[in-house]
Amino acid sequence: MAKEELECSFCGRKKPETNLLIAGLDAHICDRCIEQAHGIVIEESKQAGNSELSAELMLRKPKEIKEFLDEYIIGQEYTKRVMSVAVYNHYKRLLQPPSDDDIEIQKSNIIMVGQTGTGKTLMAKTVAKMLNVPLAIVDATVLTEAGYVGEDVESILTRLLQAADYNLEKAQRGIVFIDEIDKIARKSDNPSITRDVSGEGVQQALLKLLEGTVVNVPPKGGRKHPDQKFIEVNTEHILFIAGGAFDGIERVITKRLNMQAIGYSTVKDDTIDNDNILQYIIPKDLKDFGLIPEIIGRLPVLTHMDPLDANTLRAILTEPKNAIIKQYKKLFAMDEVEFTITEGALNYIVEKAIEYKLGARGLRSLCEEILTEAMFDLPGSGETKLHVTKAYAEDRLSKSTLKKLKAVS
Ligand code: ADP
Repeated sequence: MAKEELECSFCGRKKPETNLLIAGLDAHICDRCIEQAHGIVIEESKQAGNSELSAELMLRKPKEIKEFLDEYIIGQEYTKRVMSVAVYNHYKRLLQPPSDDDIEIQKSNIIMVGQTGTGKTLMAKTVAKMLNVPLAIVDATVLTEAGYVGEDVESILTRLLQAADYNLEKAQRGIVFIDEIDKIARKSDNPSITRDVSGEGVQQALLKLLEGTVVNVPPKGGRKHPDQKFIEVNTEHILFIAGGAFDGIERVITKRLNMQAIGYSTVKDDTIDNDNILQYIIPKDLKDFGLIPEIIGRLPVLTHMDPLDANTLRAILTEPKNAIIKQYKKLFAMDEVEFTITEGALNYIVEKAIEYKLGARGLRSLCEEILTEAMFDLPGSGETKLHVTKAYAEDRLSKSTLKKLKAVS
């Protein structure tokens, strides 16, 4: 074929009418058709992504979401129920077809109040795992107002993009877990917080993100966007989960409940469970603690974590799908060592975790201390069994080790 007779096999344009004509085996394609085809590919993949998500969600009603959470998280029944409904509603909102009534379903961002180590991060991680969406875990303490040294709130979205491997569609349906939200409480209401940058400014900056807006996000090292200065991220369908210990909020709650602070209590009210004051929390308590009302309004689902008692800690050791003891069994099995542990030893670990106030996180450090020597000695030794009794555990855990664990926890 003479050069000037070449034409696009898709639209029929002659070569001189195109900017570029690419030759295939028996056909040609022009720059315009390439652009159009590219658009179709993007649209198709968007739809495929959405139907993937909806198919998954159609299968999981709130009860099923909770069953999934039950496999990984011990106790925390109330939060698991609240979370199941909030997540279900969030994704229903995301999947709703455009309608002409004026009813707009608002976001169900969540705030979890509970002591450190009670499973707040685990809750967010498990929800993300179930939905197969990217999760960014960010620490509110590093966030600052624009212009100050520290990270702008936009960096949250950079993290989410990274977690989504720079797939914008995926990131925009992801989950952000903002840990330590209590640390950006307003200083005036909470003199124990010594930040040089006002927490209120950070709260203000977070507002828009929580509500749903388009933010220009610097991709920071994304391979797929080497030259791009900004990626436009729409936060409308991102689920935000905030968590914090809110140390001292019990006093705010008890005060509201017309009681004196715990420990100094002279008035006894039998209907109030003093061991778990957080269960009575209401949004006003967060305001009194120093969160601004606008932030509280944008985190409409408020829930609390129960303190972990001995039974819960004992269950955490062996029951969740990837329980600590199951993990050690697997590790030893790789060296053909059968690892067993007695009930007495397990209870001893729980006892020490409580005595030294190590919480659930401490369970792992205690196990590690008890088992390190065996993990060093057994591989390659020909031994095929490790049986840990209470006496063995006691022997491995000297007082000084326990003190050390307490210091680092
Ligand atoms: P938080 O975010 O509240 O500080 P984490 O979710 O990081 O606490 O929990 C710390 C560790 O303790 C996790 O690794 C988790 O395995 C374990 N853990 C805490 N609470 C629970 C629970 N309710 N069920 C199972 N594991 C838990």
